[in-house]
Amino acid sequence: MPGSEISQTLFDRARAVSPGGVNSPVRAFRAVGGTPRFMREGKGAWLTDVDGNTYVDLVASWGPMLLGHARPEVIEAVREAAARGTSFGTPSEPEVALAEEIVARTPVDLVRMVSSGTEATMSAIRLARGWTGRDLIVKFAGCYHGHVDALLVEAGSGVVTFGLPGTPGIPTASTAQTLVLPYNDREAVAAAFAEHGAQIACVITEAAPGNMGAVPPLPGFNEFLAQTCRAHGALFVSDEVMTGFRVSRSGHWGLDGAREGWAPDLMTFGKVMGGGFPAAAFGGREEIMRQLAPEGPVYQAGTLSGNPVATTAGLTTLRLATDDVYAHLDQVAGTIQAMAVKALETAGVPHVVQSAGNLFSVFLGRTEPVVDFADAQAQSQPAYKAFFHAMLDHGVYLPPSAFEAWFVSDALDADALDAVERALAPSARAAA
Ligand code: PLP
Repeated sequence: MPGSEISQTLFDRARAVSPGGVNSPVRAFRAVGGTPRFMREGKGAWLTDVDGNTYVDLVASWGPMLLGHARPEVIEAVREAAARGTSFGTPSEPEVALAEEIVARTPVDLVRMVSSGTEATMSAIRLARGWTGRDLIVKFAGCYHGHVDALLVEAGSGVVTFGLPGTPGIPTASTAQTLVLPYNDREAVAAAFAEHGAQIACVITEAAPGNMGAVPPLPGFNEFLAQTCRAHGALFVSDEVMTGFRVSRSGHWGLDGAREGWAPDLMTFGKVMGGGFPAAAFGGREEIMRQLAPEGPVYQAGTLSGNPVATTAGLTTLRLATDDVYAHLDQVAGTIQAMAVKALETAGVPHVVQSAGNLFSVFLGRTEPVVDFADAQAQSQPAYKAFFHAMLDHGVYLPPSAFEAWFVSDALDADALDAVERALAPSARAAA
């Protein structure tokens, strides 16, 4: 292996000018230790770092790279869009076409584009409060909805990775209106509504949590949330920033709501819909969405919202994401999970591998299913750390935290899967 000297040099430079040397905390490898790899290039299923190491990428930029890196059709469309101008501050055609694609794939009637998942959930919460005239919101422990003040309570992703209960800088008043409940717990939801039902503006949940590791909703849980909200005049906000256009062409809703015959009132999207560029959105029922300015009184705006280059990348990605692509993603996700189970069993490492569609996680050090945040926290982080580094040394890039899902891409071919299989056996032994 070429080592990681150039990454280390860049990391030293980065730490001198940026907190932790990164622009998003989990990238710093704090939870797993060692030198974060600075990537130079991505092609298909592979990443190459500045020292010349190559890795099979099972992070996919934390979800967006559904088709793999530098897919030629996406790059060409982006090149053409950029050549026409990178931002106009006016409406443009690509954002309309992307909105049409989202409306066609999901139950939302109207969408509003933003630039990050955080903005999408923040705006959806504001709209839910504006529509209902109520202040309380319900979220679930272990779900992460971006770094929105009111939602950064018992959150997953980087917040749990660093063992933070919340974060300084958020006024108590901002979280005083947030009820945090255990995930997958119908009784807790029913009790919260019995006590506060008339004050609850919305329930927000990840459609299938991926930010405490992949923790699928128990059968019927999302439908139960939708019904409970409806019965109390609250809105059901399904956060599909991670799952949207990833686990099926209609996101997680395509795996439950579309089959069970219910729809969220509001949904949030990000990641895949930007095709690797900053684009996100929230959408929902027409009468609610028309409350947004300029039609209604709920204000929301953005200088780069609906950016023509970002929306072109997203639109091109979604148009290429056919049913065949989703079938392939399910297949490679299943293959990698089976390979991981085999390697961990052979090495005698206690584990649970579980999935929500093609999103999956490997929880080490426990054998019972993980159904909520408390379960996720009971996994062995030292075992994951050893596993992560062995996989990295054997050329597979995993999330540098035990509280994340693994993300597959359509570019994972037989060569890449072979490389993953070769890495798994020694890495499982390292975790034993
Ligand atoms: N919601 C979910 C479910 C997410 O996974 C994320 C990011 O990981 C967000 C919201 C926030 O998105 P962003 O990082 O684009 O602000």
